[in-house]
Amino acid sequence: MTTIFLAIGSNVGDSQANIRQAIKLLGKSVSHIQQAQLYRSKALPVPGHPDLPDFVNTAIKAETNLSPQELLQFTQQVEKEVGKVYRFHWGPREIDIDIIFYGDQVINTAQLTVPHPHAHERDFVLKPIGDLDGSFVHPKTGQSVQQMLELLPPSNLAVIA
Ligand code: ADP
Ligand code: MG
Repeated sequence: MTTIFLAIGSNVGDSQANIRQAIKLLGKSVSHIQQAQLYRSKALPVPGHPDLPDFVNTAIKAETNLSPQELLQFTQQVEKEVGKVYRFHWGPREIDIDIIFYGDQVINTAQLTVPHPHAHERDFVLKPIGDLDGSFVHPKTGQSVQQMLELLPPSNLAVIA
């Protein structure tokens, strides 16, 4: 069994319901799911697309016997079941599930980059993971999630009650 951290976000439709459904479906092939708080974040700026809706973000920590490639296929299947429609790069999405950490493995294939290459610079990824395990160490940089969070500029993330 390998400990995994997944970042989950949504900014189309009933985002909280989409995230709930995704986590329920993820439970079919990953176990011991712990969920972080829900946060609201501003969408990253995309040229030519002002006024993107805010995201709801969370993360889960879980255990799995799936290989990294199998886990990616599984999370993409879950995204499809929740109703993800591809619009454009970084565009609005019903659900987005990213593999942030897969144990302490470093993976660089055409389909999969783990740890997720932008994890260390995104508060909407690090903050929820910090809820789950702030002492988890990034296998490439050696920094803990807590240390990475302390290096980020002040956050405008809001906790959703
Ligand atoms: P976007 O680039 O708009 O976020 P997607 O969420 O559909 O679009 O992801 C695009 C691709 O990112 C996927 O097809 C997947 O192969 C790739 N990818 C690379 N590394 C990861 C990762 N760590 N977690 C999830 N997807 C990843
Ligand atoms: Mg994605």
